Amino acid sequence: MKDVQEEGRGIKGFNPLIALIKASSIVLLLLAVIFTIAKINGFRVSSVRNELKTAHSKAKKGSSEKPTKPSKEPEYFNPRVNKSKDLDSTRDPAAEIQKYVWGYRDKSTPWLDDIDEFKRGVGDFARVQEWMLHDRSKSRYYPSIVIGDGEFTNEECNVEGGTLGMYHGKCESILVNFRTKSLVYEHPIEVLTTLAHEYAHHLTNITVGNQNISGLEAELIADCFAGVMHGYWAKWNKLTEEEFNHAGRMMIQVSKSENSMLDEHGDQGQRLGAFLAGKARADGKITTLYRNFCIGLDEVISFSKGLP
Ligand SMILES: [Zn+2]
Repeated sequence: MKDVQEEGRGIKGFNPLIALIKASSIVLLLLAVIFTIAKINGFRVSSVRNELKTAHSKAKKGSSEKPTKPSKEPEYFNPRVNKSKDLDSTRDPAAEIQKYVWGYRDKSTPWLDDIDEFKRGVGDFARVQEWMLHDRSKSRYYPSIVIGDGEFTNEECNVEGGTLGMYHGKCESILVNFRTKSLVYEHPIEVLTTLAHEYAHHLTNITVGNQNISGLEAELIADCFAGVMHGYWAKWNKLTEEEFNHAGRMMIQVSKSENSMLDEHGDQGQRLGAFLAGKARADGKITTLYRNFCIGLDEVISFSKGLP
C-alpha cells in the first residue's frame, strides 16, 4: 500500500491514517516484519531485502518467485492462477458467489487489472464458508462484494468514500476500493488480503454477530481469518513468498497508531501476530499467538471440519 497524500479515515476497514506514518518508522517496521516473517517461516531474507530495494511491486506478474511445490489443492478447486478454468459449471460455492461480486477496473491502477484474480479469491472464501462455518444454515449466506473502482449506490447502503476496504454489517456488503485520495494498493495480494479481512467480518456478522463482541476482537478475528486464507493459498500453491511478504508488511502499515483513539484495529504486534497465527493455523498449528488473538475465530469457523 502506498501513500498518495494525507487524508482522512474509513470506517471498519483499513485506516487511511497510515498516511501519517513517517518514512523512517516505516523502514524500521518493514525490517521488523521482514525478520519476523523470515524467522517464523524460514523465508530467505536475501530475497526480501531485494524486494525492499525495488520498493513498489509493479513486477508481480513477471515475478520469478514461482511456487515450487506440487499443488495439494483438490482438483475441484479452481486455482486463482488458472485463468482459463470456467467457474460456472458446478454447484461449487466459488461459482455461486460470483453472482454477488462486482468488479470494476480502475484506469489509474493498471497493476490491479486482473479482476478475475480477485473473484477467484472470493470464491475461495465461499468454499471455506461452505465447509467450515459452524452454522451450517449460513453456509451459503453470501455478502455482496464490490471490488475496484466502485461504490454502493443503494441509498440504504450508501457508504462514504475514502476507504480502501470496509464491511457494511446492516447491508451485508463488502467494498474494497483500489485507491482513495490518500492511499493506493501496490500489489494484487494486498487487495486479496483486504477482501479476506472484510469477508471475515461478514462471517462473524452472520454467526457470532459483530455487535456481540468488542471492536478489537472483531478486527483480530478478521486478521486471523486473513492469515488462515493465506495459509490455505500457500498450501494450494496460490501464494508466493513475495506475495506473503507484501501482505505481512501491509498488516504492519495498516495497524492502529498509538495516538488513534477511534481506530478499533489492533496495533502492529496484534495485527501481524493475528495474521501469522492464522496462517500457521491453516497448517494445523495452534500457536501462542493464536491463543492470544484468534480464539474468537474458532466460534465462527471450525477447523475440525477442515478442508480436504
Ligand atoms: Zn476490519
